[in-house]
Amino acid sequence: MKRFVSLGLALVIMINMLLLAGCGGGDSNAAHNGKGTLQPLLGGTSDSAQPAGSEGTPQEETPRVREYGQVASYLSLDGTLAVRVTYPDGDIDALDEAVYDWTDQQAQAFRGELDPETDNGSFTGDFDSYEVDGRVVSVRMAGRFTQSHDQKPERVTANFHADRTTGQLLHLNDLLCEGGEAALEALVLARVGEYPYGQSPLSSWLLTDEALRLYLPDDSVVELTYEELEGILALPGQEEPEPEPIRQADEIDPDKPMVALTFDDGPYSKVDSRLLDLLEQYNAKATFFVVGNRVGSYTQTVQRMVADGHELGIHTYEHATLTKLDEAGILQQIDLTQQALQDAAGYTSAVIRPPGGACNDFVKQVVGSQGLYLANWSVDTEDWRSRDADSVYNEVMKSVHDGAIILCHDLYESTAEAMERVIPELIAQGYQLVTVSQLLSYTDGGIVPGTLYRQQ
Ligand code: ZN
Repeated sequence: MKRFVSLGLALVIMINMLLLAGCGGGDSNAAHNGKGTLQPLLGGTSDSAQPAGSEGTPQEETPRVREYGQVASYLSLDGTLAVRVTYPDGDIDALDEAVYDWTDQQAQAFRGELDPETDNGSFTGDFDSYEVDGRVVSVRMAGRFTQSHDQKPERVTANFHADRTTGQLLHLNDLLCEGGEAALEALVLARVGEYPYGQSPLSSWLLTDEALRLYLPDDSVVELTYEELEGILALPGQEEPEPEPIRQADEIDPDKPMVALTFDDGPYSKVDSRLLDLLEQYNAKATFFVVGNRVGSYTQTVQRMVADGHELGIHTYEHATLTKLDEAGILQQIDLTQQALQDAAGYTSAVIRPPGGACNDFVKQVVGSQGLYLANWSVDTEDWRSRDADSVYNEVMKSVHDGAIILCHDLYESTAEAMERVIPELIAQGYQLVTVSQLLSYTDGGIVPGTLYRQQ
């Protein structure tokens, strides 16, 4: 709230006229409310009541725009100068003070031009206010000073701007991109042909919902749309909002294509947290084949995987090659990993991915005896070899197919980076991203323990 300064005048009345519907009920301005004191003694009409085409410049006569502030009035009468200026009183102190001070200064200056013995005059004024993107607030004051001995009124205008997010006054330069000033002046020159004035064409400006409006010294107005000002005017919040990403549906449609993204050799929170955020963003599911002896180090990550609805598979306890182990060895690798998952997240896995994909009938038989099955892959991204997001993306897109099980490793940032493009692209192509067990239940007619799926 701007505060009232004493003018030392015979009569100063300040009234908040709540002319605007929805402006709130004069809450904090109760002390200044005094509708009953508004007398018709000032005569004349405000600018807003002037029909178009009357004295003054036409652009000031259009309907008032009032997007900021309550409507307040500066009224004073001392026998010499009658002042009636309507101004906005809002919630940006710096702006309110600047507008008020300008009004006050104008009134005093005009009063100084009058001889109290012989002259009298009036100063009337009104305002438009704009608020763009909830950030840039502009106020244009337009006033008219009329002397009793002078037929021709003197017009005064001033524009004020503030940044709602900081509460500070704004200058056009604050909103211009690098080199924007020269580019903007060139645009104006192209529009008006010639510009013979000493003062910058950018000195009197306003932001409306559609355009930057420049008031030139000859009272003409140049409007430049935000489209025209792309790369010149940097209006934060003006950028297009990020479109909502395509999310896949909650329910799996068995008639639509599906793929399973799988991540081996983790958990590894640094990469998994990125992957989990991505999967969550797209409502996609994946399978993490964990190395059992890593699970205890990343219990929170494992818990989130479970909570987010992903599948956890066994990639042995020590990344062991199962074909080199006897039955006891295989069972130990399975049991220790199941125990780690149980301890970390109360989770029991149904699927094993043998390290290196190495499998044989004996391994299948031992795994089957535990009610588990084996899953290899049908698309190998070779992300461990390339460590390159583009390469991973290309490998997936080159080979993806309905029922694909895609092999990745959650040890590499480049893999997470690739998934930022892979996941939305697969969804855009109509694929449902599901867990390995979901995929096999739908595409392979059910899962049989002791079976190896997607043998290479
Ligand atoms: Zn591995």
